Order: sequence, then structure tokens, then C-alpha cells
Amino acid sequence: MSRTAYRFVDYVTRQDPTGELSWSAVCVSGDEADCGAFSGETDEETAVKWMAEHTRDTEHTRYRRTFVDYATVEPKA
Ligand SMILES: [Zn+2]
Repeated sequence: MSRTAYRFVDYVTRQDPTGELSWSAVCVSGDEADCGAFSGETDEETAVKWMAEHTRDTEHTRYRRTFVDYATVEPKA
């Protein structure tokens, strides 16, 4: 039994409304290696459109999507 005392302060984490949200998608279709086509960081609508167009052009159907936001962490009041 450790005699060390830890004090934990409760924190609240929230999405920062002033931070810019971004989405991206990379095509992971392919048998031996992923296609690797990348949408770039963009907004949600553009990322969805990019995937639809990539599927239309290549018949690739599998993507890894990333969503990025900003958060703030503050001690609980
Ligand atoms: Zn692809």
C-alpha cells in the first residue's frame, strides 16, 4: 500500500466553439496496399463530396476518416 496521497481536481472538457473543425478522408481500398488517396483537411461537406467522387472515379469504397476539433479544459467550478 502506497502512502503517497494524490489529490485529483475534477476538470471539465468542452469543445472549443472558436476552434475550426476539420475533416479528412484517406482511401484505404486495395488488396495489397492502400490506395492512399487523401482528401486533404477540409470541411465535412467537401470531404463527403470528395469520397463520393473518388468512389465514382475508381470504384474504391473504403475510407479512413478523421475529424479534428479543439477543446478547452477547465477546473470544475
Ligand atoms: Zn482509392
